[in-house]
Amino acid sequence: MPEIVVMKFGGTSVADAERIKRAAKRIVEKREAGYSVVAVLSARGKTTDELIEMAEEVSSSPDPREMDMLLSTGERISCALCAMAINDLGHRAISLTGSQAGIVTDTSHTKARILDVRADRVRAALEQDHIVLVAGFQGVSTTDDVTTLGRGGSDTTAVAVAAAVGARECEIYTDVAGVFSADPRIVPDARKLPTVSFEEMLEMAASGAGVLQLRSVEYARNEGVRIHCRSSFEDAPGTVVLSEGETLEQPLITAVTHSTAEARVTLIGVPDEPGAAARIFDALAEANVNVDMIAQNVPTSAGGKAEISFTMPREDLRVATAALEAMGESVCERMATQSEMGKVSIVGAGMRSHPGVAAKVFSVLASEGINIEMISTSPIKISCVIARDRVERAVQALHGAFELSGPGTVGVEEPFKARTG
Ligand code: ADP
Ligand code: ASP
Ligand code: MG
Repeated sequence: MPEIVVMKFGGTSVADAERIKRAAKRIVEKREAGYSVVAVLSARGKTTDELIEMAEEVSSSPDPREMDMLLSTGERISCALCAMAINDLGHRAISLTGSQAGIVTDTSHTKARILDVRADRVRAALEQDHIVLVAGFQGVSTTDDVTTLGRGGSDTTAVAVAAAVGARECEIYTDVAGVFSADPRIVPDARKLPTVSFEEMLEMAASGAGVLQLRSVEYARNEGVRIHCRSSFEDAPGTVVLSEGETLEQPLITAVTHSTAEARVTLIGVPDEPGAAARIFDALAEANVNVDMIAQNVPTSAGGKAEISFTMPREDLRVATAALEAMGESVCERMATQSEMGKVSIVGAGMRSHPGVAAKVFSVLASEGINIEMISTSPIKISCVIARDRVERAVQALHGAFELSGPGTVGVEEPFKARTG
């Protein structure tokens, strides 16, 4: 059988009939170049957002199992339509749901993890010379329910399928030309990175660079899948994610990332005793809340009581507060929540051996009058929680101060501006 390539098209790249036909054409060209092709598609345009709104119109806390039944339909529509378009181009295509494609997940509805990919059916279809379209972002749980993989999950479907069928490369076609030194929506002269290491890409994805879902990068690193993130509107090469030794360059700072979807909970009057934090974070883990930063202090005036703050994606705030309230007074005396938080981070492998980067970040933010509310670091990342409405300015100021624009800078393209989803 020919070498296999997995091609993933994001929501903007299949947003309307014209774009589905364009994706179909690109898939067929790959087939005609001699590869076996599996294409993983996302829901069209803003479909997933619209489905979430539909659920919220009928329920204040939609049942997660039913949510997955609903959300998984978006990517099925894209795949069926694209299969029709490919058939019209004279090739044989077959669309498969996540379940039909053998994507087996755990039972955590709306953020399930892939446990296994039983790719027999995909392989058999490829052997029969079909182009296989797999609905992204979904799977079937170990208890036979439809699950979804969290926002941006089609990237992970693509990487998982690529690993399972031994693909040569997993191409992620999207509405930007690759991975940039900052979100080109906020920094129009951000630089396209020809290569980026797994380590840096993991930190970037974890700190908000939504261009690749975090789990897709983890999966690719663990399974040795080569990711090539590129534009679905032009042919130029994009960004290849590689292991650290293979990357072309190792600048001090690689990228500035951000998130405007953070929330913070502060627990006031937490008993200052062993086990208090364990109780709190066990309950949050049980509720499947993705806790990000944690800070604890024991104010001298608070009579032996501690204060614990933590951040999480805003979408987890409701579940987090409900889980803590259910534990009653053993947790804390009072709880304060802030839903309008943001985060700005800088990522770069060169930071490991260069002191003074954190100091520079803090002074750049200070010179913009931006208050830092929480800080966390890793050997190659510094993150600051700040007010949501200051994020854009913070990203631009840091990108400028670390001189990240440079040769190879690509402006915002026309199709990118026309993005719909
Ligand atoms: P798709 O629908 O193709 O999966 P996404 O919206 O999930 O596309 O991801 C692409 C978007 O990621 C871009 O439109 C861009 O605004 C955003 N983005 C954020 N940070 C970065 C970055 N560092 N490099 C490139 N794109 C980024
Ligand atoms: N359609 C899903 C989302 O909007 C999954 C994806 O696009 O990767 O998050
Ligand atoms: Mg995406």
